Parts: sequence; C-alpha cells; structure tokens
Amino acid sequence: MRIVITGGAGFLGSHLSETLVARGHEVVAVDNLVTGRRANVRQLKASGRFELIEHDVTEPFDVDGDVDGILHFASAASPVDYLKLPIETLRVGSQGTQNALELAARKGARLVFASTSEVYGDPQVHPQPETYWGHVNPVGPRGVYDEAKRYAEALVLAYREARGVDAGIVRIFNTFGPRMRPNDGRAIPNFVRQALAGEPVTVSGDGEQTRSICYVDDLVAAILAMLLETHDPGPVNIGNPHEISMRDLAQWIIELAGSSSTLEFIERPTDDPTVRRPDTTKAQRLLGWSPQVPVETGLQRTIEWFRTEAASAPVLTPG
Ligand code: NAD
Ligand code: UDP
Repeated sequence: MRIVITGGAGFLGSHLSETLVARGHEVVAVDNLVTGRRANVRQLKASGRFELIEHDVTEPFDVDGDVDGILHFASAASPVDYLKLPIETLRVGSQGTQNALELAARKGARLVFASTSEVYGDPQVHPQPETYWGHVNPVGPRGVYDEAKRYAEALVLAYREARGVDAGIVRIFNTFGPRMRPNDGRAIPNFVRQALAGEPVTVSGDGEQTRSICYVDDLVAAILAMLLETHDPGPVNIGNPHEISMRDLAQWIIELAGSSSTLEFIERPTDDPTVRRPDTTKAQRLLGWSPQVPVETGLQRTIEWFRTEAASAPVLTPG
C-alpha cells in the first residue's frame, strides 16, 4: 500500500513511517519541518519505499500516483511548541486538515486524523470515555491547540457525511519514546534529560497532576489498525491507562536513570489539566488493541535513547 503521512518527520510520524516501511508499504511524508527533523527519517531512505516532501500542509498539496491511506499527523503537539506557534497551530488544524481531507476525497483513500486527549480539556469526568464532550477553555492559552483539534474532528465527520470520505478520528493520550525532540518542553524529555545531566528535575505546581503515558510502539500498532483494519469513524481513545502523577514520574525517571537529581518545583502553566486517563474499552472492542509494553520498559528504552542520541540542547520548561 502507499500511505501519505502529514507530519511524517515528527516523533509519531517517523515511528509510523518506520513500521509501515518495515511491513513493505510505501510512505510519502509531507512535512514542513517546523517541529520535525530530517534526522528522524534519514534511515528510511535506503529502503527505496520512503519519500519526504517538504511542504506546509496549510497550502494545498497533491501527491502523484495512487494513495491508499492518509495519516494526518501534522501539528505542533508540545505545549511549549504550540504556544510559540499559536496561529500556525490553528491553521494546521483547520486549513491543513481540510487540505488532507481533500486529498483523501480525490484519491478515494481512508484518512485517520490524529486528535488528542486535549479535546477533553481539564476533564470533569474521569477516566475519559469518547462520549464525554470535554471541558475546554476556548480563550485560554491552550485553546489554540484544543479548539483546532475539536474543529478538525467536526471537519473530518463533515467530509465523511457530505463527501463520503472514509475518515476516522483517534484521540491520542500522552505518548513517549525515542525521537521525542530533546527540547520540545514536554515532561518526559525534560525529566530524562535533566536526570541524565544530574540537574534539578523541573516539576510544575505540586506535581500531583496526573497523565497516563503510553509507549510509542503501542500507539503505532493502534493507529495502523485504525487505518488498515476498519472503516470506523471513531473517535477512539488511544492511550495506556497507566496513570501517574508528575511528581512520581519525575522520581521514577531519576531512579531508572541512576541519577542523583533532586526535584525543583516550578510554576504550573495556565489551564494545565489536573487529571487525564483514557477509557480504552472502545479501542479494545473495535481494534482488539490494548497496550503491551510496560511503562517501565518504555521509560528504560527512552532513557537509553536519550543517553546515546540526544543532543545537548537547552531544556525548555512550560509557563
Ligand atoms: P511532533 O511535533 O514531533 O510532530 C509533528 C510534525 O508535524 C512535525 O514533523 C512538524 O514539522 C509537522 N508539521 C507541523 N505543522 C505542519 C504544517 N503546517 N505542514 C506540514 N507539517 C507540519 O509531534 P508528535 O508528538 O509526533 O505529534 C504528532 C501528531 O499527533 C500531532 O497532530 C499531535 O497533535 C498528535 N498528538 C500527539 C500526542 C503525543 O503524545 N505525542 C498526543 C496527542 C496528539
Ligand atoms: N511538566 C512538568 N515539568 C516540565 C514539563 C512539563 O512538570 O518540565 C508538567 C506539565 O505542566 C503537565 C505535565 O507535566 O502538568 C505534562 O506536560 P506535557 O507538556 O508533557 O504534556 P501535556 O500537558 O500536553 O499533557
């Protein structure tokens, strides 16, 4: 099959590309490299089944030849990134999604859209099932990301209803692993790099806020099942229900890294969600999927990758 991945040079896009190429498929990545990196996909060139087109998907685009599937993953994803790129983030969620859906309509291809647990905002229902409508502040700083994704979800369903496009939505919860950008400002790359450097590990607020963290290999398996094994519209939550407070996560990473770092408490960002955990019943029923990689194993692999690969770029903290 020939699969187009917008955002294919990013963290998740590069892992999806790698797995598809390894399974014998062809991948065309479309990426403007605003938060992605050529280095993430350099190793795929030799396969002869991978191509990177440098393009901003908010501008119309086409891909020569047949396309069997589209993974629309282009968007800044880290709060530090999307707060620096507020208008670009709204545009990639709106115009970028429309351009990807137009491509799907022209090619008769299934499209899977990377939505997010952020559509639930600071949730008042816990854990979050897909039926929960969320608790988002549209005029807070995170609104540029959350509302772009919510608009994009509506657009996906409108193209499905009005244009007959075979499109589906996955709501991705916090995912981690090798190739996260060392200075993207998210908790896990920050904690790992700080622990490895023996620097204070920056925990926001009192660190009692929780996230549920999924290793990237599990995420890839779910996304590819959603693309290749069903025509369901979703939305379907994809995440590991392993919920942990940021304080405990920081301590765990310090321990796994064999570090002597201490915790430093920094200001908590505005509208930072207090809890987050996916209800994954639907993913189990629809895709036969549940996460297989224990979080500790995932953290160990990530720490090893950062130990050997990650550059010494400055750590950016939220707020
Ligand atoms: P990332 O920043 O590593 O990757 C995003 C990629 O999109 C980058 O390569 C970037 O250059 C590209 N991009 C951004 N704007 C673009 C544009 N206008 N045109 C072309 N390319 C563009 O982030 P990621 O963590 O890999 O996230 C990928 C997708 O998954 C995003 O849509 C994000 O919202 C979603 N998601 C990720 C997570 C997570 O935990 N990683 C959670 C929920 C949702
Ligand atoms: N966080 C933290 N220290 C950091 C970076 C992030 O304590 O150096 C916190 C952040 O405030 C949030 C949680 O970790 O409460 C997860 O943040 P991340 O940016 O990884 O993901 P998101 O907020 O998008 O879930």
